[in-house]
Amino acid sequence: MSKNYNDLILQNTKIITEAFSPQDFVDRFTMLFKDFFGIAGMDFYTLDYNTGMFRDFVRDWIYIEDPQAQEYIFKIFKMFQQDSEKFIFNGKDISYSSTKEEIEEIKNNTADINLLYFPLFSPERTFGFVEVRYQKLNDDIEIDENLFKVLQIADLQISTAIYNQIVKEHMATGLNFYDAMKNIAKIIESQYELDYIIPQIGEMIDRFISSHLIYIFLKDGNKKYKLLWPSNCNNEEIMQMLENQEKEGAIKISPDCRIGLFPIKGETETLGVLVAYSTIGKLSANEIEYLVELTKQSGITIQRANVYSDVLKHATMDALTGLNNRRQFEIRLKQETSVSHRKKTELCGIMLDIDYFKKVNDTYGHAAGDCVLKGIAEIITKTVREYDIPCRYGGEEFFILLPMTNIDDAYMVAQRLRQNIQNSKIDIRDAKVKGVPFLQITASIGVNKFNHDETPQEFYQGADKALYESKVNGRNRVTVYNSNANAGKEG
Ligand code: GH3
Ligand code: MG
Ligand code: MG
Repeated sequence: MSKNYNDLILQNTKIITEAFSPQDFVDRFTMLFKDFFGIAGMDFYTLDYNTGMFRDFVRDWIYIEDPQAQEYIFKIFKMFQQDSEKFIFNGKDISYSSTKEEIEEIKNNTADINLLYFPLFSPERTFGFVEVRYQKLNDDIEIDENLFKVLQIADLQISTAIYNQIVKEHMATGLNFYDAMKNIAKIIESQYELDYIIPQIGEMIDRFISSHLIYIFLKDGNKKYKLLWPSNCNNEEIMQMLENQEKEGAIKISPDCRIGLFPIKGETETLGVLVAYSTIGKLSANEIEYLVELTKQSGITIQRANVYSDVLKHATMDALTGLNNRRQFEIRLKQETSVSHRKKTELCGIMLDIDYFKKVNDTYGHAAGDCVLKGIAEIITKTVREYDIPCRYGGEEFFILLPMTNIDDAYMVAQRLRQNIQNSKIDIRDAKVKGVPFLQITASIGVNKFNHDETPQEFYQGADKALYESKVNGRNRVTVYNSNANAGKEG
């Protein structure tokens, strides 16, 4: 092999290992081989075995859509499928077994542009080929066995580099896929409200399958598909496909591979459907495979949320704070007022509302607001006695029933509670607000004593009125309800 050839191979090795964006490689390869052949341009075509379509590797993986071009490319590809040692020049096999005459003919070819093809192959199979366009062959070039050897080595190097690139892309998609799966699984663990879950799943899948649009439809009470994510779908084709589903629960791909319907299944029934709409032409077999898995996972999440909301209907505990919920409060209010009435025991109530809570949400976000609610609930639990009944009445309103307690003691408990809240640094680290780990919060309180001849509602309303007095008188204070003066003791 001549010195020049050795040099060529060394330099080719260098550019392949140094830089491999396809365009960069082509630029440098062209420069390198320019002195040997008058290279005018170069293209790489790789076959996507999933879709059966060819891609232009240099131009960022563009699919070859034109049927004529597809057919032409396929014809060349077929020639390499049997024999990956072949080199095709202007339609002729110029492998080193070619005769001298044939080679002479090639050199004398007068066409302006000559085309050389060589295969791209992995250890398992041929996955594409390279098309090199020449102005004309350099006269100094000896087309001999050595040149073929050089071309073969270059071919092997290029094939390996491109194959690695393809494998890398596959792995990256795989990794993103497992990330998306993991994230959906994480939502299952922590969230139960569909209004919150659906947009999260939608966004996640959207991010993963970024060149396609994702829609999520769930069946409503009347078994009709209702779009839940995003807010609207103007695509008539999708709506028609949804309506014309012959078999619910089956995956359906449109003939042009543009639209895919993936049923979201619960344990016993179909809950909805996830629709993927390709903006670049086709959903690939890989993407379809991933979407099937992602939809399965989403089905589990949604099913769990449904079950949970059913359970919630019968639950007694507020999910966020762990206190008695509103429903349980109503039950306990009736019970305790009834006991107090019958046994002539004392019963008091404390109604508490966080001051300027809306500001917490607006300034630090709802997650921080939730942390504050949890923090206040903890302070309440620590401050009251074991047989008191703390409840979350509504958003940021709490009611504590104090059986066997006179109004002076109830007032004392309320004051202690107010002070404990004021003196606490409420931990909002879970909300991850940068630079704000704690918040200082105050609350306003109304206290009322149950009169044995009044209704539970009147008892509750008294505490509410006293609370209102605390608010209008400047907040962070306790007011005892006075039925005569409409407000009483305050501090
Ligand atoms: P005031 O001092 O007069 O009580 O003002 P405020 O801002 O505390 O009261 P307002 O009633 O205007 O606001 C209550 C806010 O509580 C509005 C609502 O968005 C918020 N909220 C209700 N439930 C929740 C919840 O579960 N989590 C969070 N983060 N916020 C909630
Ligand atoms: Mg309020
Ligand atoms: Mg408030």
